[in-house]
Amino acid sequence: MAFDIEMIKSVYSKMASRVDKAREIVGKPLTLSEKILYSHLWDGTPSKAFVRGKDYVDFAPDRIACQDATAQMALLQFMQAGKSKVAVPTTVHCDHLIQAKSGAVADLKVANTTSAEVFDFLESVSNKYGIGFWKPGAGIIHQVVLENYAFPGGMMIGTDSHTVNAGGLGMVAIGVGGADAVDVMAGMAWELKFPKLIGVRLTGTISGWTAPKDVILKVAEILTVKGGTGAIVEYFGPGALSLSCTGKGTICNMGAEIGATTSTFGYDKSMERYLRATDRADVADAANVIKSHLTADAEVYANPEQYFDQVIDIDLSKLGPLLNGPFTPDLSTQVGDEMTKKAKANDWPLKVEWSLIGSCTNSSYEDLSRAASIAEQGKKKGLKMKAELGINPGSEQVRYTAERDGILDTFEQLGAKIFTNACGPCIGQWARYSDPKNAPKNSIVHSFNRNFAKRADGNPNTHAFVASPEITAAIAFSGRLDFNPITDTLINENGEEVKFDEPTGWELPPKGFEVEDAGYLAPDEDGSGVEVKVSPTSERLQLLEPFEPITPDQLQGVKLLIKAFGKCTTDHISMAGPWLRFRGHLDNIANNTLIGAVNAFNKKTNFVKNQLTGEYGGVPDTQRAYKAAGIKSIVVGDHNYGEGSSREHAAMQPRHLGVAAVLVKSFARIHETNLKKQGMLGLTFANENDYDLIQEDDTFNFVDIAEFAPGKPLTIEVVHADGSKDTIKANHTYNESQIGWFNEGSALNVIKRENAA
Ligand code: SF4
Repeated sequence: MAFDIEMIKSVYSKMASRVDKAREIVGKPLTLSEKILYSHLWDGTPSKAFVRGKDYVDFAPDRIACQDATAQMALLQFMQAGKSKVAVPTTVHCDHLIQAKSGAVADLKVANTTSAEVFDFLESVSNKYGIGFWKPGAGIIHQVVLENYAFPGGMMIGTDSHTVNAGGLGMVAIGVGGADAVDVMAGMAWELKFPKLIGVRLTGTISGWTAPKDVILKVAEILTVKGGTGAIVEYFGPGALSLSCTGKGTICNMGAEIGATTSTFGYDKSMERYLRATDRADVADAANVIKSHLTADAEVYANPEQYFDQVIDIDLSKLGPLLNGPFTPDLSTQVGDEMTKKAKANDWPLKVEWSLIGSCTNSSYEDLSRAASIAEQGKKKGLKMKAELGINPGSEQVRYTAERDGILDTFEQLGAKIFTNACGPCIGQWARYSDPKNAPKNSIVHSFNRNFAKRADGNPNTHAFVASPEITAAIAFSGRLDFNPITDTLINENGEEVKFDEPTGWELPPKGFEVEDAGYLAPDEDGSGVEVKVSPTSERLQLLEPFEPITPDQLQGVKLLIKAFGKCTTDHISMAGPWLRFRGHLDNIANNTLIGAVNAFNKKTNFVKNQLTGEYGGVPDTQRAYKAAGIKSIVVGDHNYGEGSSREHAAMQPRHLGVAAVLVKSFARIHETNLKKQGMLGLTFANENDYDLIQEDDTFNFVDIAEFAPGKPLTIEVVHADGSKDTIKANHTYNESQIGWFNEGSALNVIKRENAA
């Protein structure tokens, strides 16, 4: 079904020479991250050393994975590229659109009805273009990738921020926006700023109640939610050897919570065991042959301060169980006394209503078996659960094996709900309340990664704490946030005082993994006859039409749509939440365009002047009026416009509605690139004080657009309502080929033309 051993062998066959060349060019021993990066250059063998945190580099990833929410627009765009097959092995995973409510069987049935058209589209488009398709219920993307596709020394990208989970198997795996994935699917390079490197030296041994989750909860405390930005976190040291492969996956997974580009571990015995247990002995054999290239050079780990930009030390023997939260994953508290004090001081509800185990972070066989050991003890010691318990297994393979081994039965006997092998409560797909906005203040504990307000259940008053699966299970019995299973006792049904023993579990199933139907559909060898299923009346999916080029004529008489005040992130430009269901329908989702941006003239959101009528209205409605009148518009913004995510919708929606240019003090770089890819003008004020010159009913003339060229600022005449004019300069960063994207309407139009040639 799954991995492509020939592809992996091909990567390995080139690795030695490329790593040797990189070492020579860089002039010093290499970290693992550098070995993987330098052996995946788009141009092949390295020819120059790159400056970390500065140089933009073209890479050639080995694989792509997409989840169902982000895959829709990515694949709709890929269909525009005129290719018959994806250029790089790609998979699609249906895991985000399944709501947790009654339990796996019933919930999956509901999802298969309510999201049928999305699943049908993804299945048919995958079949047509040579993409592996994982059906709803097959599992959570990152657990499925770890079980089937991740391999030591590989590089992958995925349209989900927790793609980084595959670092647990020694990959450099990075979450990207759909537009980046489309480039790679279409056979183009993928650009990334060469990351900085943070080394985390693990000493001691993990034992008792401490879990791999506590390692990353501690790292999050140290680095905070921003501390990993622009960096790869590389874990090493003797402590790393005491961690299972899936435990390493947990640690890498939550690297997303510290903003890290990705995280990784060197190839070791735990990875070999995992590869063999998941039916990939040939990958393990191939990795063993080149294992010296699948970890850093010995000198690096001996003197890490010389080779990493930052080094953090963690002694696993001294680490104890942590609870991180509420509302942020970096607020770390030790279980027990520290939590008692902090909860009282901050008025966090001590009663825990729900314990949830699962998500791509902690849903492996090992995780479930360790949590089950606590559940089993609770049962034997006569305890009843005080909080409700919900479980989302990570994959059908894990679920089937856990069921065979009695693990799920243990949970179910205690009244736990087994939800679908899917994201469920982790992404707010949890029917916990009928009216979440007005739901009461409460605490929950989960083994997920994110705990922002409203993330799990839509209730802003839910205080969500992140913990290991074993702590989450123990808290389900106490029903209290301040319970310390290491020291505290509980009173059982017979009135006796009982105490938990340390959790135990299995790194890998003793009887091996087993599954009847993993939920995978291989694509047709020849997909040319496959019809992609999109109903013309669909509300959620819409086939894309190529964007027409913006002509010099259209850039005269351009109207101001909005002058955004202050922060304008991709969420302000294209909101998430309830709009998620329209991610595959450009025209429908365009109805949220810029509705979160603050109008600089009245400090209101979604309230701008329509220059044609003089009346005020919503941004999308006003823009549609300009479009109907054949008038292009411009968006003006402040600093770091488009920060937040790589969501391509934030560029596609304004483009679809007829916005021609975005002129700001500065851009978040990914958004600037996304605007270029959609054939728009992304410009910055040469003099940022010119932002203040822009008035509410201004008209813009791009007087020298016909001479658009690399390195040459554009001149814009700004005509005010009273007839007065200002002439301003706008800088840009378009190179020759990006100007080609603008001239032809989009990067995809260029790819399509080149493919047809
Ligand atoms: Fe994202 Fe949660 Fe799903 Fe993981 S389980 S992919 S974090 S939504």
